[in-house]
Amino acid sequence: MQISEFRQHAHQLVDWMADYLTNLEQYPVRSTVQPGDIIGQLPASPPATGEAFADIFRDFQQVIMPGMTHWQHPAFYAYFPANSSPPSVLAEMLTATLGAQCMIWQTSPAAAELEERMMHWLAQLCGLPAAWHGVIQDTASTATLCALLTARERWTNHRINEWGFGTEKFAIYGSTETHSSLEKAVKIAGFGRQALRKIAVDQAFALRPDELAAAIQRDIAAGIHPLCVVATVGTTSSTAADPLRAIGAICQQYGAWFHVDAAYGGSAAVLPECRPLFDGLELADSYVFNPHKWMLTNFDCSAYFVRDKAALLRTFEIMPEYLKTATDEQVNNYRDWGVPLGRRFRALKLWFVLRSYGADGIQAHIRRHNRLARYFEQALLADGRFEILAPVNLNLVCFRYAPGHLAEAELEVANAQLMERINHSGQAFLSHTRLRGKYTIRAAFGQPTVEQSHVDQLLGLLREHL
Ligand code: PLP
Repeated sequence: MQISEFRQHAHQLVDWMADYLTNLEQYPVRSTVQPGDIIGQLPASPPATGEAFADIFRDFQQVIMPGMTHWQHPAFYAYFPANSSPPSVLAEMLTATLGAQCMIWQTSPAAAELEERMMHWLAQLCGLPAAWHGVIQDTASTATLCALLTARERWTNHRINEWGFGTEKFAIYGSTETHSSLEKAVKIAGFGRQALRKIAVDQAFALRPDELAAAIQRDIAAGIHPLCVVATVGTTSSTAADPLRAIGAICQQYGAWFHVDAAYGGSAAVLPECRPLFDGLELADSYVFNPHKWMLTNFDCSAYFVRDKAALLRTFEIMPEYLKTATDEQVNNYRDWGVPLGRRFRALKLWFVLRSYGADGIQAHIRRHNRLARYFEQALLADGRFEILAPVNLNLVCFRYAPGHLAEAELEVANAQLMERINHSGQAFLSHTRLRGKYTIRAAFGQPTVEQSHVDQLLGLLREHL
C-alpha cells in the first residue's frame, strides 16, 4: 500500500470509527451469529495475490461486523466492561503507526520513561504507597503469575529458578470467590492445583481472616510453607472486597507474600468515598488493577505495582549479550519486569486518557457508574419481585427474579430464560454467576456512555421479558 493510499484509507476509517461510535446503539449488543457463521464465509486459503483495500474493508463490514459483540455499547452490562475512549483509540493509532517494540529503554526511551511516569500518576490518583514501583502488564492474570513467581523465588532465595523444585511444599490462598486466574497461575508456576486453598467467605462474600489463619496453621503443622495469599478488591462474581488489613497482618505473621488483585475494583480507588475498600493496601507486596477495565483505557493495560523491585527483577532477569546496553544501570528495562520480552507501547494511551479526562473526569466516570448501580438496585427493590443477592458496593448489581410462588429449581430456569430472552433481543447484554448456589444475574454499569435512561430501559426490558 502506498502512503498516499494509506492516507486516503485512514481518513475513511476514522470517519467510519466516528460513525460507529455515534450509531453504536443501533447495533444488537450481543452478536446474533451462530457458531461457524463467520468461518464459513472466510476463504480456506490465503489470497495468492494482494487484494484491494476497498474489498478488504467491505468484507470487514459485511463479514466481520455481524460477528462482533459491541463492548462499548451503553447497554453492555455483562461480565465487567472493557472501557475504551476516543483519546485512548487515538493513542492506539499512533502506537500502531510507530510500531515500536519497547522491550528495553534504548528501543524507545520515551516509552520506558513515559511508562515510569504514568505508574507514578496512577499511584497518586489511587492513593498507593509512593515507594511502590509500577509496570504495565498485558493482563491481571499475568500480574498474578508474576506475583506467585516472585514470592516463590524470594522465599527460596532463587533456588527454584536455578535448580527447579526440590522437596519443599507450598500453599497458596485465595477465597472461594477469587478469580480463576489464581488457579491458572498456581498451575503454571509449578505448585500444582492441590496447593491452592480456597478460603470460606462471609455474608458479604469477603474472605474470612479467621478461616485463613486456621488454614495456614494447618499447613504449617503439616510442613507446608504458606507462600502467598491473594486478596481481592472487587471479586468477579459480586465485587466483594476482602479485608486487606486483617489479611495483611496474617501474611506478616506467617511470612507469606501478600498479593492484592483489584483488576476491576482498583479504578474505584480514585474516589475518596471508595478508599475504605482498600484499607490496609499498604501492607501488600504486590498489587494489580486494570485501567483497561474501568478507566477508559483500551485493552491491554494492566497496572502492576510491587514493593520490592529488586525481588521482581531478580526473578525475571535475563542478560544475553545481544540485550546488554551501556545504560542498563540507569534506566528501567521493562523486559525484566515480567514474562514477555517484546512489549507494546502501552503507556501512550494511558497518558492520552489521563490528560484528556484529568483526575476529576475519571472520578466523575466512576462515581456516575456507582450511582447508576444504586439507582438500579433501588428500582428492583421497589418493584418487589426481585431479590438482591450481594451488597452493592461499587457498580455491579447481582439479582434475580424471585416471585414468592416459584420453587428454587423453577427460579433457576426462570432467571436463565429471562436473561437469555433479554440478551437475544439485542437491546442489552447481561451475564450470570452463581452466589451461594443461586443462579444470579449480574448487571455491571461501567460503560463510558451509559446514562440513567439506559438503566430505565433495562428495567423496562426486565419487566417486559418476565
Ligand atoms: N481478577 C479479577 C478480580 C477479575 O475480575 C478478572 C477478570 O475479570 C481478572 C482477574 C482477570 O483479568 P485479566 O483478563 O486482565 O487477566
